[in-house]
Amino acid sequence: MSVDNGSNGLLIVLSGPSGVGKGTVRDELFRVNDNIIYSVSITTRQPRKGETDGKDYFFSSKNNFFKMIENNELLEWAEVYGNYYGTPRQFVEKNLENGKDVILELDIQGALQVQDSFPEGVFIFLLPPSISELKERIKRRGTEAKEDLDKRLGAAKEEIYIAREYHYVIVNKEVNSSASTINSIIQAEKCKFNRYGEELIKEVIKK
Ligand code: 5GP
Repeated sequence: MSVDNGSNGLLIVLSGPSGVGKGTVRDELFRVNDNIIYSVSITTRQPRKGETDGKDYFFSSKNNFFKMIENNELLEWAEVYGNYYGTPRQFVEKNLENGKDVILELDIQGALQVQDSFPEGVFIFLLPPSISELKERIKRRGTEAKEDLDKRLGAAKEEIYIAREYHYVIVNKEVNSSASTINSIIQAEKCKFNRYGEELIKEVIKK
């Protein structure tokens, strides 16, 4: 279900500490809203077991990644936990023009860059119920070595304060409920007068 307001799509940025459940919430969101499309990031990190190139990430060499930066092909990029991550620009711009709502899953550095280039975006931060629950979730995922787990938990404590820079904050207690909250936010944002109101009035008057 999606409100059909405005000719351009909405840019949604989702952030939250590693292990908070962004991927699962995103999958559930796609189930309830078929106008949203995910922008697959490019990364220099090695694929995890079960990850597919082109679906989870575009896995890339550092050389290729830096070439893309040089050619202005990335909307934003950042170094996170020793690897590089970035958003291919063309995909996002093309889909927004075509009226699709595009969701980006970014670390806080990337999100702050997008706030500068797309101030009209909707910025949502996903919080874990607690740090101990976050630790359990990362352990359960079982994809990180002990050293990486400590790195990610240390970063999480700092990242959480940056939630203040976002428009919305959601505690991810339960996947379905978080996805449904995000969907409600998207629909409400589409009805904000200063977003599409003038365009809608003109359309109605014409008919
Ligand atoms: P992971 O290695 O766990 O897949 O991702 C590590 C972090 O990088 C997560 O916080 C994730 O949201 C972030 N990330 C994923 N893709 C991008 C991207 O394109 N740009 C930025 N800035 N961060 C990203």
